Amino acid sequence: MSSKSAVSPAISNEDSKSHPVLEELRMPFSRSMIGSFFQEQPKLGNQFLEDALLQSYLRKHLPPLVLEQASRDLERFGQRIVEEINSLGRECELTYLPQLQQYDAWGCRIDRIITCPAWKRMKELSAEEGLIAEAYERKYSSWSRLIQVVKLYLYSPSSGLFTCPLAMTDGAAKVIETLGSPVALQDAFKHLTSRDPNQFWTSGQWMTERKGGSDVAHGTETMAYPKPDGTYTLHGYKWFTSATDSDMSLTLGRMVDEQGHIIQGTKGLSLFYLEVRDSKGQLNGIEVQRLKDKLGTRQVPTAELLLDGVKAMRISPEGRGVASISSMLSITRIHNAIFSAASMRRIINLAREYASKRFVFGKLIKDHPLHIQTMARMEVEARGAFLLLMEVARLLGLEETNMATEQDQHLLRLLTPIAKLYTGKQAVAVVSEGLECFGGQGYMEDTGLPAMLRDAQVLTIWEGTTNILSLDILRSVIKSQGQVLSAFFSAVQVSYIAITQLQVAKNLHNM
Ligand SMILES: Cc1cc2nc3c(=O)[nH]c(=O)nc-3n(C[C@H](O)[C@H](O)[C@H](O)COP(=O)(O)OP(=O)(O)OC[C@H]3O[C@@H](n4cnc5c(N)ncnc54)[C@H](O)[C@@H]3O)c2cc1C
Repeated sequence: MSSKSAVSPAISNEDSKSHPVLEELRMPFSRSMIGSFFQEQPKLGNQFLEDALLQSYLRKHLPPLVLEQASRDLERFGQRIVEEINSLGRECELTYLPQLQQYDAWGCRIDRIITCPAWKRMKELSAEEGLIAEAYERKYSSWSRLIQVVKLYLYSPSSGLFTCPLAMTDGAAKVIETLGSPVALQDAFKHLTSRDPNQFWTSGQWMTERKGGSDVAHGTETMAYPKPDGTYTLHGYKWFTSATDSDMSLTLGRMVDEQGHIIQGTKGLSLFYLEVRDSKGQLNGIEVQRLKDKLGTRQVPTAELLLDGVKAMRISPEGRGVASISSMLSITRIHNAIFSAASMRRIINLAREYASKRFVFGKLIKDHPLHIQTMARMEVEARGAFLLLMEVARLLGLEETNMATEQDQHLLRLLTPIAKLYTGKQAVAVVSEGLECFGGQGYMEDTGLPAMLRDAQVLTIWEGTTNILSLDILRSVIKSQGQVLSAFFSAVQVSYIAITQLQVAKNLHNM
């Protein structure tokens, strides 16, 4: 006999239809009594199709043929993000976080970093989508870089932070290209820019040591000992190395000459290339001491590494390590700005969706002017960040295809640290405001929203804190004897004239 008929024999079918509440009261164990209202959750749409500003920017700037081809690819990619990539990104944080297995069952040191299948899939996807390749194939001439940046902008908030290794991979490819693609590095370059998931490599960037992340000139204790065959062995301790499951890395080391002498400061540092594992899969003189316990970016394995005789190749002239790695830093700073602008856009899109579904005080949130004012302020920041990012990407594309004027180069030098600094700071503020737009739900882990805030906090720290970037901006002014500011002034003047002319034309049209 079912429990239903046992407890309510007196209620006929007819009665139960007309008194459903009464029936539930009489059958307390038939269904949990948690009410019938459930807030509809915000849905993620195709982030390319829903981004009016992005589309109008591309329409305004790209040549028609490039626009047509790129838009088709971006629309397809936008759909792939909704249907496949976004859930993989969540899995990277939810399934299991990276773990370090230091010993095997028999006590041998193995230092295996275990990552989840979704993280590995992200690597394959990145190759398939050409997220690095796009910028170096130059299929769209000077626009190739901008189109790559747009793809990364769409991908970032769904990437499960795989954009972190991609930033360093892009930076490493850029260093190799800037060094004139020496024969010894051509194989690595092919791997970094491959579209074949089986060939694609990611790279690390090991700079920060215990004594200094900002001040690497005085903080680098890693020593590079020359070997008779022209290679080096590295001995040191790297305090922060993200995406330590990468295939290769670029790192700084202090050269030790045959008499055991070193040069202190920047002039003693050179840049080295190393592969993390040998052909048998054994670590290359590296011990993973521990994984960092971080506020956010938890999907990314960030480790402390002991370098105990790492076989490495010097790829910069002696003592030019900091200068040679600077092109990597420019790229990773731009990636930081991509992530910042994209996080703002994503939280606003989700909050806007939510505002059209959540009903309070007799109307939808979107119909409360005060809420709209809050969102409008966020929107202004997000738009500013996006346009600044696009300008930097446009200038970088010109520089990479030898089309940049002297003024473009000055502007790029000035705007890169500004974009990283400003968008990083704003991302923390806008994402925080975005969480508030969801009320209490914005604070709930299983919505995925709090992770966005935790992850945003790293944007102001790595690749240069706000003060370090401010000093870098001042350095660019001094080194160029003010020319970066003149370039900025001219660019603002040109924009001002264009806007004024547009307004005059509009006024005439309305007369
Ligand atoms: C999640 C995460 C991942 C990371 N991954 C990597 C990685 O893969 N590779 C890598 O090399 N590093 C990595 N880092 C390290 C990061 O780049 C450094 O932490 C950062 O550069 C700051 O260096 P620091 O920690 O030594 O701080 P410090 O340099 O000690 O700075 C401390 C404070 O002092 C201020 N300060 C320093 N110098 C000056 C000055 N001259 N004037 C005014 N203020 C100053 C800074 O602004 C900051 O507020 C990572 C960090 C994090 C959090």
